[in-house]
Amino acid sequence: MEKIKSSVVERFLSYVSFDTQSDDASQTTPSTHKQWKLANALKAEMEAIGLEDISLDEHAYLMATLPANQLPVTGYQLPIIGFIAHLDTSPDMSGTNVKPRIVTHYDGQDILLNEQENIVLSPDLFPELLNHLGEDLIVTDGTTLLGADDKAGIAEIMTAIDYLKQHPEIPHGKIRIAFNPDEEIGRGAHLFDVQKFGCDWAYTMDGSERGELEYENFNAAAATIRIKGLNVHPGYAKDKMLNASLIARDFIDLLPEEETPDCTSGYEGFYHLTSMSGTVEEATLSYIVRDHDAQKFDKRLQLLQETTDKLNKIYPAGTVTLLIKQQYRNMREIVEPQKHIIELAEKAMKQAGITPIVRPIRGGTDGAQLSFKGLPCPNIFAGGLNFHGRYEFIPIQSMEAAVQVIINIITQ
Ligand SMILES: [Zn+2]
Repeated sequence: MEKIKSSVVERFLSYVSFDTQSDDASQTTPSTHKQWKLANALKAEMEAIGLEDISLDEHAYLMATLPANQLPVTGYQLPIIGFIAHLDTSPDMSGTNVKPRIVTHYDGQDILLNEQENIVLSPDLFPELLNHLGEDLIVTDGTTLLGADDKAGIAEIMTAIDYLKQHPEIPHGKIRIAFNPDEEIGRGAHLFDVQKFGCDWAYTMDGSERGELEYENFNAAAATIRIKGLNVHPGYAKDKMLNASLIARDFIDLLPEEETPDCTSGYEGFYHLTSMSGTVEEATLSYIVRDHDAQKFDKRLQLLQETTDKLNKIYPAGTVTLLIKQQYRNMREIVEPQKHIIELAEKAMKQAGITPIVRPIRGGTDGAQLSFKGLPCPNIFAGGLNFHGRYEFIPIQSMEAAVQVIINIITQ
């Protein structure tokens, strides 16, 4: 297993040297040309390992096969299982010139990331560090993100597949792997060719803390509320003026005050006012609406409609308009009927000595979209913490554990 450890680390350090930041202002896929560099390097690596059916399409979706080496018993077809990770890193923080450093045998003290700029990774602010006492942490130099999200996932998948390729005596079925661009801007799954991937189910290696196993995410919609006012000279406005900004305030007041992201956790949904702008003449409110429970989610959207209707009765009809855009749905309804997908991952973790942490995701994943495209796809930990920022770090022991989990799933 020392071999696995050194090769997953070596791969990870090599992949984070590629800047693959995505850009949501771009209309193309991949959103940034630089993601191609990592895709091409991985393709070459797949060829060197000797994988089959390697394909890199015009949108930088890279796929490959580790063929089965076990003859199926008559009448029983082994499932084809997939593993997926994403090439890009978050637009929130620079991924240029990442300078990773390994802190061996972490002692629980502050880690000075950058002496010049006095950037410190401290357990006071990030107590999760203390879950990794004695482990070896890969950290940044404080000026960029690390990119463990999701280059750790890529390194883990490649290392597991490489290991199995080098150990033909270990029997397994057909395995497919895929790396996609643009997950961080919510566009990782839309051009993912599920048919071509051809798996019965798959796992994204894109979770955080060791043990995480996720198959419930939010149902999600975006709502835009537009309010038309009527501007009149304020000196002569009595009974005439309609101030759109004040009507926008009424709308906000009519929603439950404590159902906001800062007041909710676990399975509690929310209305999140992401932006507001207004003059007397017109005002716009933008909300995102989230709930794990499909019925409660529908009720939330209904409340937005009722609020709109209510205000249109108080003010002239058509003053308030509501536009709802569905975004993604909870994959639970797809994954749960096939409980073996979850049970297999749980078993693989326990075999690796890891207690599965099953938690609802308070967000969405590529896996949710893929699930609704016909590829049930829970999310497994990749091991990194404090994603999308300068304090991102990953324990090497978590990467090693993730490789073991992948191997365990494949060799059940
Ligand atoms: Zn990710």
